[in-house]
Amino acid sequence: MREMKCWWDSFKLKAYKIRDGSDIQAVTDEIVELRLRIFNEVPEGRIITDVDSVVIDVNPAFTKITGYSPEDVIGYTPQILNSGLQSRSFYIEIWKTLLKCGHWQGEVWNRKKNGEIYSERLSVFAIYDDNNSITHYVGLLSDITSNKRQQEQLDLLAHYDVLTQLPNRTLFDDRFNQAIAYTKRTNTELAVCFLDLDNFKQVNDRYGHHVGDSILIEVSQRITQQIRESDTVSRQGGDEFTMLLADVKSFIYCQQTLQRILDSIAQPIIIDDIEHIISASIGVTLYPADSGEVDTLLRHADHAMYEAKQAGRNRFQLYDAEKDFRIEHKYSRLQTIEQALVNDEFELYYQPKVNMLEGHVFGVEALIRWNSPSEGFIAPMEFLPIVSGTALEIKVGDWVVEQAVKQLDEWRLIELQPVISINISSNHLLSNSFFDMLEALFTKYPLINSSCIELEILENSALGDLNMIHDVLERCKSDLGVGVALDDFGTGYSSLTHLSVLPVSTIKIDRSFVRDLLDDPNDYSIIDGVIGLTNAFRRNVIAEGVETTAQGLMLLAMGCFQAQGYAIAKPMPADEFPLWLKNYLPNQDWLKCAQKQFSAKDKKLKLFQLATLQWQDKFVNYIQSSRDSALSPPIMDITECHCGRCINWLSNEQKLVTGSVKVLEQIHEKFHIIADSIFHHYQLNDHQKVMEGMNELQEAFFYMHSVLDEYKAVS
Ligand code: C2E
Ligand code: MG
Ligand code: MG
Repeated sequence: MREMKCWWDSFKLKAYKIRDGSDIQAVTDEIVELRLRIFNEVPEGRIITDVDSVVIDVNPAFTKITGYSPEDVIGYTPQILNSGLQSRSFYIEIWKTLLKCGHWQGEVWNRKKNGEIYSERLSVFAIYDDNNSITHYVGLLSDITSNKRQQEQLDLLAHYDVLTQLPNRTLFDDRFNQAIAYTKRTNTELAVCFLDLDNFKQVNDRYGHHVGDSILIEVSQRITQQIRESDTVSRQGGDEFTMLLADVKSFIYCQQTLQRILDSIAQPIIIDDIEHIISASIGVTLYPADSGEVDTLLRHADHAMYEAKQAGRNRFQLYDAEKDFRIEHKYSRLQTIEQALVNDEFELYYQPKVNMLEGHVFGVEALIRWNSPSEGFIAPMEFLPIVSGTALEIKVGDWVVEQAVKQLDEWRLIELQPVISINISSNHLLSNSFFDMLEALFTKYPLINSSCIELEILENSALGDLNMIHDVLERCKSDLGVGVALDDFGTGYSSLTHLSVLPVSTIKIDRSFVRDLLDDPNDYSIIDGVIGLTNAFRRNVIAEGVETTAQGLMLLAMGCFQAQGYAIAKPMPADEFPLWLKNYLPNQDWLKCAQKQFSAKDKKLKLFQLATLQWQDKFVNYIQSSRDSALSPPIMDITECHCGRCINWLSNEQKLVTGSVKVLEQIHEKFHIIADSIFHHYQLNDHQKVMEGMNELQEAFFYMHSVLDEYKAVS
């Protein structure tokens, strides 16, 4: 080439001379020579044929590329190079273009003299004479086999996984689009699956990556064997594979395929004489029932795969959109709650706890509230269940404990010393850091009295890890001096075990029992039983959810003196508590009970009196309410209602004169007859009859209460 450049420089010099009018013949000769040298010396192969495609000349580069010398090809047609890899129609197309446009350009697979196939880039030109008739064809060709191979290699890298040779994500996306188009055309279904090997990491860690790689290769082959050629399996990376099972006519068909895949993967894999047992979990979603982009469907299949893992691995799981929505909702809610903690949107409210007999406030329960700037006030039961079982539950729990301890320290400065009860979830209690966190707080606030802190453990959350719960509580009690209460007592499954095993000093009767204490004889019996148990185990007892004076009176009669509930005060912000306390007036009816010792008979009489009043109130409210109101009538069955049960208990009391119970029985029967009749007329919309009946009922009540007063006076 260098030689040619020197020659070109001297040629240019001579050409300038022509312009000066000298030595034209010499320049013409040189041009011919130049053409010849270009023809012979360029690295591109050249071939010249006559109009009948008979080769008349080739250059040395042609010989170098094809291996054919001029003698081998001159007098023959270029068909000598034909590899047989292109169809007849391919050559017909070339000729058509050549004749029409005068040139053709493209890539052709040809065969060298030694039989080797090679790829050439070929340009063919037709040469015309002055009459515009073709006289010759010239072909310019270069060997692009190595480019082609590189290209193929690149394609392979770009579309296939190097380790398993399975399609990679890029090719999978392509196949997905094709499969979707096919599914639409044929009205069938497409299963998009996500497969993840179970516990693969352990195998990798234990036996090394080369074993892991061999397993992946084996697994990929096993999956491939179980699916049809038209299906796709792709490796996404790591031990994750995705599959497209097209033409799904029913999920049952799909299930069979997936089960076959799982079974084949579960067969032992032997590598270096070691048997490995591997299983997989598969999540699957079906298009078009579940629609969206490839990413969405894969994400859904991935979620279902996670479900399959949760359900015990080595199985497949169909995607459940509703469930997924709930999980996603929960996840986003968790993030909002975490942010709320950072933004200081939580607040502790305090609900007073009183001794009804003595009339004094001895403590408060700390109850969390969420003041969300966007959603307003949010009650704990709307967000605590969401954080339950997560790390965030511990963070929120720590925050609550710290706030409560800090509050106790602030109240200490104004000489308030209520016992603050803090609700603790079992997850929080069992976290490694619980004891240290509490101890650190007592160090941070050294002047508070630690016995003014009481941990309230939810009764039903104490299930399961009873021994551990016992140990943590025991340490908190003995080392730190805090109190422990069992919250919502009676709602768990093993209340008796909890009571006897856990080091609790106080039992809180759940408010669901207190609410219906005077309506439902069963709840009365439960509370009666709980109070009996706390006496037997020498524990303190407090009732929560006391909403009326009557409930308080009944609890007092039953032997429960401590209470918390709306009848005393609703939970309030910390800064309102001191003023509320200053203005607090104890319930006088409760105080009056202080002078009275209740015998078993007194208790029953009190219950009878309070229960009939309650029954009457409930009945009157029901009859006076509109028909579409949510109110329900009291128990109308004469033997099942509270008063009826009470009369039964009273009849069994030795000390009550049998005749007196008979009188109560008769009055009770009478008011039920009147009430039944009112109820009947109420349903018929007969207001007149209802009014008459109500007056009659009122009289029956008066009479009954006067009889009761007499009994109480003599007892
Ligand atoms: P709980 O510990 O049994 O708290 C008593 C619940 O009853 C409180 O509901 C309180 O406002 C409500 N209450 C008290 N007296 C009455 C009443 O007379 N009538 C009625 N209808 N309700 C009454 P709240 O504050 O909504 O808390 C509900 C539950 O959320 C609590 O039940 C407790 O289990 C949990 N909780 C509240 N704050 C926290 C906290 O800081 N940490 C934890 N782990 N749980 C908490
Ligand atoms: Mg509580
Ligand atoms: Mg409770």
